[in-house]
Amino acid sequence: MKEQIRAKFEAYWDEMMADLAALVAVNSVRGEETTEFPFGKEPARALSIALRQGERMGFAVENVDNYAGTIDLGDAEEMIGVMAHLDIVPAGDGWTDDPFTLTFKNDRIYGRGVVDDKGPVIAALYGMRIIRDLNLPLKKKIRLIVGTNEEQGSGCMKYYAQHRPVPSCGFTPDADYPLIHGEKGNFWTWLSFPAEETPILEISGGNAFNIVPAECVVLLDGSQVSADELKKSIRTEDTEGYEPQFMHDAKGNIKMVVRGHAAHGSTPEKGVNAIVSAAKILCNAFGERAGKMMHFIAESIGRETDGASLGLKVSDDVSGSLSLNLGRIIYSTEQHRLAIDIRYPVKLSLAEMDANYRKMAEAFGLTYEVTEAAEPHYVPKDSPVVQKLLAVYRQVTGDQTADAFTIGGGTYAKALGKNFVAFGPEFPGSEPMNVHDADEHILKELFLDHCVVCTLGMAALAGE
Ligand SMILES: [Zn+2]
Repeated sequence: MKEQIRAKFEAYWDEMMADLAALVAVNSVRGEETTEFPFGKEPARALSIALRQGERMGFAVENVDNYAGTIDLGDAEEMIGVMAHLDIVPAGDGWTDDPFTLTFKNDRIYGRGVVDDKGPVIAALYGMRIIRDLNLPLKKKIRLIVGTNEEQGSGCMKYYAQHRPVPSCGFTPDADYPLIHGEKGNFWTWLSFPAEETPILEISGGNAFNIVPAECVVLLDGSQVSADELKKSIRTEDTEGYEPQFMHDAKGNIKMVVRGHAAHGSTPEKGVNAIVSAAKILCNAFGERAGKMMHFIAESIGRETDGASLGLKVSDDVSGSLSLNLGRIIYSTEQHRLAIDIRYPVKLSLAEMDANYRKMAEAFGLTYEVTEAAEPHYVPKDSPVVQKLLAVYRQVTGDQTADAFTIGGGTYAKALGKNFVAFGPEFPGSEPMNVHDADEHILKELFLDHCVVCTLGMAALAGE
């Protein structure tokens, strides 16, 4: 069957690429919100193009108020869903060719959205067409749900779920193979410290909750601190080998620039946190005089990325340990705050997470404000949706050991609830596809592999 499906995709190739080119041509970054266009005009224009393509193939389509759209195959009452999205992140600079012109070079397809996620929209659409061509047996309706706001909050799917029936199970081809069956919960807070007397005038480091800061700049009172002595006191274990730089400003104060290594906030162990390095340097040099906030960072967070010394460490057999990233510091005369990005294991609830965190804050005499918090997303490994899709993946790729995994980050799957998983389109071990970057691309062969897996995945879920 997989050969037959692949041959069909090859036969449709030119038409399919023309349809993909029409979607790639739309710069569907979120725009200005109006009553008619909740995420701006261009995401809605991409949606209307995709729905016309589905209609042209004879499918029943519906535009759900310019938030999302549906394309249906079959008329059974029970349905399975495939959700993919047509909005994109800004093209940015550095492209070799025009990001909005589908380009074929070196057996690869280039253009903004070819992987994330316009290519997968087209793959699913043609997959439905091929399922119909080949008369594959369907007991359930297949609904392709196309969203227009994945990149900025998935408001499209929230709206869909409030206004239309949610399929009994399904997948989103908007992440990685073999299959993501769990996503840790998010718990993002600003943690506030009382003001204190220290030789530190200002500290700034980091830009976001979810990035390990690669730089931290500390301004020290030149009348209290000698740059030479501070330099001499620095130990390799404070900096992990990243040499800090020192400067004097016009007022004679000392500016220390501490460097580290950036990483994504869901995998803080892959980075070197420059704020932690700065705090370690200051605590070693000044002792108690560095103040409670610096000691909190240097000792209670330290190089740990699992919150152990804060009493926050939790782990489970499915998703491993909680992760903690200190993403940003604001230290000035007015404010002393830390941005903390926690991803907690799938078997912990948000209420439990919040209770643990409150206990920690109370123990240290701190206050906090939650800026973003979400329950984990978890579909058990032995559930039919995971089992059926994994079987398809193993059969098509020949990789019999392929297994479902969990991640610290979030995928689109979360948006439609408990029976949705992420399934493709990126294969493990493949070359980087530059998603969200310049020269986003995919090898033609890998795109075809994805088309086949996606089609058989839909057929497996809808077939019984
Ligand atoms: Zn995406």
